Amino acid sequence: MTSPHLASPAGAARYLAGYPPELIAQAETLRGEGRLVDYLARRFPERHEVRSDSALFTYVNDLKTRHLRNAEPLNFVGYDAKLRVLQHALGTHTRRTQVQGAKLKMRREIRVATLFKEAPAALLRMIVVHELAHLRELEHNKAFYKLCQHMEPDYFQLEFDLRLYLMSQEATNCGPSAGLPQARLRPLGGASDVPGGRESP
Ligand SMILES: [Zn+2]
Repeated sequence: MTSPHLASPAGAARYLAGYPPELIAQAETLRGEGRLVDYLARRFPERHEVRSDSALFTYVNDLKTRHLRNAEPLNFVGYDAKLRVLQHALGTHTRRTQVQGAKLKMRREIRVATLFKEAPAALLRMIVVHELAHLRELEHNKAFYKLCQHMEPDYFQLEFDLRLYLMSQEATNCGPSAGLPQARLRPLGGASDVPGGRESP
C-alpha cells in the first residue's frame, strides 16, 4: 500500500540526485517496505540537546574553535523555521557588509533549519560542519568537501543519510509540508545552498 505522494517513481531519485542508481534503488526499496524509519533509528540512536538558539550558538562555536580557530567570529547563529519551506535550504551562511560609521564591517551568520532540532545528533553535526566550511570556501568545490571531511571524517556518508532522513520525514509526514516541491535539497549538492546568502556587493 502506498500513499499517492510516494507513488512517484522519481521519489527517491529526487532526494538522491547524483548518487549511483543502485543506491537510489535500495533507498526506494527501504522506503517502499516501510523500513526507512527503522533503519535510521538503528543507525542513529543518539539524539541531541541543542534545542535553543543559544545552545546552537555554543555548539557551532565549539566546533569552530576546534577546527577553524582562525576563522572570523560569527555574529549570529540560530534555528530558522522558514528555511526549508521558503528558501529550499537546510542551512545558510550569510556574509553581509554593513556600514558602521565610516567603516565597513562584515557580519557573518549561520542559520540551521528547525527540523534539525529533532534530527539525530550526527545529522545536526553534519549540517553545522557544512555551514562552517562555507566560512572558508563559498563554493561546493574540492577544497570545501576536504574541509568538511576534516571536521567530520564521515561527512559523505552523513550527507547521504541526511537525504534518507528527509525522505523518511516525508514518508511519515502527512502535514502540509508533505507535498513540498522538489529542489529543497539543492543546498547540499548544487552550486549554493544559500539563495541570497552570498556576499553583498
Ligand atoms: Zn553549501
